[in-house]
Amino acid sequence: MSNPQVSIVAPLYNEEESFGILVDRLTKLMDSTSLSIEIVLVNDGSKDKTEELMRVIALRDKRFHCVFLSRNFGHQLALSAGMAAARGTEAIMCIDGDLQDPPELLGEFYKLYQQGYDVIYAVRKNRKEGWLLKAMFHYYYRIQKKLVNIDIALDSGDFALLSRSVVNVMNQLPEESRYLRGLRSWVGFKQIGYEYDRPERAAGETKYPISKRIKIALNGIFNFSELPIRLITNLGIATVAIALIYFVYTLIKKFVLGVEVAEGFTGLMFTIILFSGVQLLSLGIIGEYVSRIFFQVKGRPLFIVKEKIVDGQLIKE
Ligand code: UDP
Ligand code: MG
Repeated sequence: MSNPQVSIVAPLYNEEESFGILVDRLTKLMDSTSLSIEIVLVNDGSKDKTEELMRVIALRDKRFHCVFLSRNFGHQLALSAGMAAARGTEAIMCIDGDLQDPPELLGEFYKLYQQGYDVIYAVRKNRKEGWLLKAMFHYYYRIQKKLVNIDIALDSGDFALLSRSVVNVMNQLPEESRYLRGLRSWVGFKQIGYEYDRPERAAGETKYPISKRIKIALNGIFNFSELPIRLITNLGIATVAIALIYFVYTLIKKFVLGVEVAEGFTGLMFTIILFSGVQLLSLGIIGEYVSRIFFQVKGRPLFIVKEKIVDGQLIKE
C-alpha cells in the first residue's frame, strides 16, 4: 500500500465512551474526500476498553493505524508517538480523541496547506469550560506571551495541520518535557491561525486533572524562557540596593541627626521571613530548570511503543 497523503493523529487515554463516535466521524470524513488519509490512533496506556476497541477497528479497516504505548506517558508524548508513526507524505493533522477538535476542519486546513502554509493551527474563539478554568487559560496564555522568547499563538492548543517538513523537524527534537505547541512555534516555517468554536467533549470526562495542567503550563514557560532566572538576579540586585540605602539612612540618623537607633523586633522578624521566602522561591525557580536538565541528561526514549497494527498487521516491537 502506498503511503497516504494525510495522517490524522489522535492520542487516546481511557476514551472508550467517545471511541465509537470518533471512529464514525473519522470514517465519514475519509469516505467523503478524495484525499488519501490514514488515522493514527495512539493508546496512551488506557485502563479501560480503549485498547480492545482499537484492535477491532484496526484489524477491520486498514486505514486505521494503531500504536500501543507500554504505559501512560501523557498527552504530549502520546501525540509525539503518533507524529513519529504517521506516514502522511503531505501533512499530519493532530486532534484530541474526544472530538473537541473537529476532524472535519481538515478540508479548510488542507486548502491553506495548498496555499503554501506549513503550519495551520486552530485558535479557540470560544471555550466550553467553566468560568474559572476559562479565566485561568486566558491569563496563562497572556502571561506566557510576556515571558517566552518565541511567538506562541494565543489560545491555540495542539489542534493543527502540519506539513511533512515541519513534522520531520519536530520528530528530531529530543526535548523530554515536551510542550508541542511551543515547539511548533519554535520551528518557524510559514504559519497561520484558523479560528473555530471549541465544542465540548463528545463523551466521558476530561483526562487532564489540574496537576497535569499545571505541569504542562510550567513547561510552556520554563522550556522557552530564561526570564524567571533573570528575575531572581534582579530581585537580588534590588535587595542589595535596599539594604545599602537602609544602612546609609541609619548612619545619617545616628551621626548627623543624633537620633538614637533602636530597631524593633517586629521589623527584624518581618525581614527574616520575607527574605527566607524570597530565597525559597528563588531555589524553586532554579529547581525548575535543574529538574528539566536532570530528566533530559538521562537520555531515555520519550515513549515506548509496545505494539503496532499497521495495514491490518500486528507488529510487536
Ligand atoms: N490524553 C492522553 N494521555 C493522557 C491524558 C489525555 O493521551 O495522559 C488524551 C485524551 O484521551 C484526549 C486528549 O489527550 O484525546 C486531550 O485530553 P482531554 O480531552 O482530557 O483534555 P481537555 O480537552 O479536557 O483539556
Ligand atoms: Mg478534551
